[in-house]
Amino acid sequence: MFPVIGVVGGGQLARMMAPEALNLGFELRILAEGPDVSAARSVASAPVGDYTDLATLREFARGVDVLTFDHEHVPNEHLQALIAEGVNVQPRPAALIHAQDKLVMREAIAALGLPNPEWAAVETVDELVAFGQKIGWPIVLKTPRGGYDGKGVRMIETEEDARAAADWFGNGALLAEDKVAFTRELSALVARNPGGEAKAWPVVHTIQVDGVCDEVIAPAPGLDPAVEAAAEQAALRIAEAFGVTGVMAAELFETPGSGAGFVINELAMRPHNTGHWTMNGSITSQFEQHLRAVLDLPLGATDALAETTVMKNYLGGANQDLFTAFQAALAAEPRVKVHAYGKSVRPGRKIGHVNVVSEPGESVDSLRARANTVASLIRDGVPSPAPASTTEGQTS
Ligand code: ADP
Repeated sequence: MFPVIGVVGGGQLARMMAPEALNLGFELRILAEGPDVSAARSVASAPVGDYTDLATLREFARGVDVLTFDHEHVPNEHLQALIAEGVNVQPRPAALIHAQDKLVMREAIAALGLPNPEWAAVETVDELVAFGQKIGWPIVLKTPRGGYDGKGVRMIETEEDARAAADWFGNGALLAEDKVAFTRELSALVARNPGGEAKAWPVVHTIQVDGVCDEVIAPAPGLDPAVEAAAEQAALRIAEAFGVTGVMAAELFETPGSGAGFVINELAMRPHNTGHWTMNGSITSQFEQHLRAVLDLPLGATDALAETTVMKNYLGGANQDLFTAFQAALAAEPRVKVHAYGKSVRPGRKIGHVNVVSEPGESVDSLRARANTVASLIRDGVPSPAPASTTEGQTS
């Protein structure tokens, strides 16, 4: 009998698992937040229900072989209750907590001896000021739980800023960190199954705009092989030590010439935006791998299919007539693969992404230009100027 997978949450991540489940012959069911969410029409069974309600989760879990997630917001205690009742939850709540609570994550990474920025748990403005005075300004203040896309992150440049952050205090400890002078952001993506088999994809360069992942270059151009190996090993070690199952992304800051050459920013335990390139750029996509991993099946090969793959998100803009623009985009770049999320257009909302894999000898800048052209055509109906080079003339 082929298994049934239940996914809590109906965003684009659940939606992109659907074709992979279909290809593998598995049934995917989705607990949707509403009838119109991105994944709702991608599977035959997508009941609408509140993922913060234990009875709803229990009902949804009935008849599925494994329960997994599109996001990390399901209350950890509900998952513990489901496990006590015999539900197969993957990843386990004891692992997931490290993606739900940044203070728990910092402590656990420190215990493993892996590279953290300097950090402290602070409960008052005075403790925040003392931390800033000790390590030097600027610093960063974060809410341990519930942040996403840069919400819940506050840059504290001076002692005055720290004093002005009083409004964030009063609900338990916050995370204060050194503001890392990184050269770029990287992501190390791995998958692990409950039996302990684990595999890593190449470490990628992720370009954020306004705290949101905008573009990914896979692999990260010019990355020191020693740093690449250390980053991959760190992600695999975390997955093993925390008992992670499914896909996990370790978001990293590259810090050449200091320490290991990187520090860990945060963890995600689900397919991740920095892994969307694998849909066209790797033998096994992160969505297929996630399904295999949570079902404790053998994992697929993670080799890259081309020298370089570029992923570019497109957000909602002023253009509402996406389909006319879409046709122009397809015509402009036959080698670019478009992945649309079936969402209505709202400014700033992630509504799709494009992937493009390199032709032999093609430069990273050329690839990025092509991905950007298509993404802008879809978003705005007109092509954008070429992106500024972040690769400093390196070609792949
Ligand atoms: P979220 O959980 O909202 O994604 P992150 O912790 O990833 O929040 O922070 C969002 C962005 O803020 C990061 O991508 C990075 O650009 C910046 N940032 C976060 N922490 C630090 C830090 N310690 N030093 C420098 N920049 C940081």
